[in-house]
Amino acid sequence: MGRWQLAVGILYHVLQSMTANSVRAGWGEPVIQSAATALIEFAYAHGVPIVITQGLRTIAEQDRLYAQGRTKPGQIVTNAKGGYSYHNFDVAIDFALLLPDGSVSWDIRRDGDGDGIADWSEVVADANRIGWEWGGDWTSFKDLPHFQMDFGLSTSDYRAGKRPTQVQLNAVTEKIAQSIQ
Ligand SMILES: [Zn+2]
Repeated sequence: MGRWQLAVGILYHVLQSMTANSVRAGWGEPVIQSAATALIEFAYAHGVPIVITQGLRTIAEQDRLYAQGRTKPGQIVTNAKGGYSYHNFDVAIDFALLLPDGSVSWDIRRDGDGDGIADWSEVVADANRIGWEWGGDWTSFKDLPHFQMDFGLSTSDYRAGKRPTQVQLNAVTEKIAQSIQ
C-alpha cells in the first residue's frame, strides 16, 4: 500500500470512526488528541481499525456513571466518582475494535487481520510506543479498553488544579514523532 493510499485510508477511517460512534470531538488538550489520533492511525496502518469511544467525561457524567449499579439500575462499570477518574481531566481514552460492518467489539481475542496476534494486543503495543499507560496492566481493577497519561499527577492533584507541564506535554509529542519513524 502506497503512502497516499494509506493517508486516504486513514482519513476515511477517522471520518468513519467519528460518525460510527458517539465519539467526543474536541479534546481540550491538543497533545492528548494527537496521542489518540496517533493510536488510531498506527492500529489502522497494520490492519486493526479502532474507535475511541470516550475521551473527556465531565464530572456530572462521571457521577451518573458511578450511580449505575449502585443507586441506579445496571451493572457497575466504574469505581470512580466524579473528579476521581482521569477521564474527567482529559488525559484518558477508551477504545473498541471497529468491525467491517461498522459495529464495535470488545473481544480481546479477536484476530480480524488474521496475523496470529490478537488485535487487542496489537493496539496495546501501539499505545505503549506512544506512551499511553494501559488499564489492563493494573493489578487491582483491570480496565481493558482504557489508556491514560497521568504525567505523574494523581486525580487529587488534578482536582487541586495541577496540570502537566509544557515540558511533559512536549515529551509526548516527541515520542509520537519518534514512533512514526
Ligand atoms: Zn477509561
